[in-house]
Amino acid sequence: MNFEVSHAINWVHGINEKVQNHKDELTSLDQAIGDGDHGINMSRGFQEAVNKISGEDYSDVSGVWKDVATTLMSKVGGASGPLYGTVFLKMSTAVKSVEYIDYSTFSSALKEAVTGIKQRGKAETGEKTMLDVWQPLADKMSEVQDFDSQLILDTAQSSMESTKDLVATKGRAAYLKERSKGHIDPGAMSSYYVFEALADCIKGDE
Ligand code: ADP
Ligand code: MG
Repeated sequence: MNFEVSHAINWVHGINEKVQNHKDELTSLDQAIGDGDHGINMSRGFQEAVNKISGEDYSDVSGVWKDVATTLMSKVGGASGPLYGTVFLKMSTAVKSVEYIDYSTFSSALKEAVTGIKQRGKAETGEKTMLDVWQPLADKMSEVQDFDSQLILDTAQSSMESTKDLVATKGRAAYLKERSKGHIDPGAMSSYYVFEALADCIKGDE
């Protein structure tokens, strides 16, 4: 399959539904090791992103991702707004003027997103952040030849869960040092929903 504009639009709608449904959960995860605003940040950001793309007519995926990026960057405070904004901006740039986004193009775009998180957050893996979901996902997807929703779901879930045992060294949770252990990172949890929504939107077409 190629990743089409309709997939990109469904993906954003899917993320929005999931973060609205799990807003309280994201809030409590962030209350445990941060400042408790991650649920609000994500729900506001993706609702605004849906509002933005709903009023537009897109000829390519790059355009959808660019609008999502600029919306998240301008509407979401906190660390996660610029980080998720960077993710979508990097992916948008990676597929600019590509007519058909095949699997390898999509997978390369994901790698660019990971590079973006690392640069923007000055983060590496193992620091208990959203990167600990994005990096393994991009790595795993680059090892296979085609979209595989089950692989996406399984990788996202195990990576998200593995942040529980990590000690945070980036973001607000780093202030807690050892006490950050025992809680899933809120940004890793929201990233899980991002990939769960991706798996949903390609299922049936893969
Ligand atoms: P804030 O931390 O400003 O309150 P949010 O609560 O919305 O913003 O987002 C927190 C999430 O952002 C963390 O759980 C983590 O996944 C991610 N994060 C924070 N700082 C960084 C960073 N430097 N690099 C990568 N991800 C980060
Ligand atoms: Mg927070």
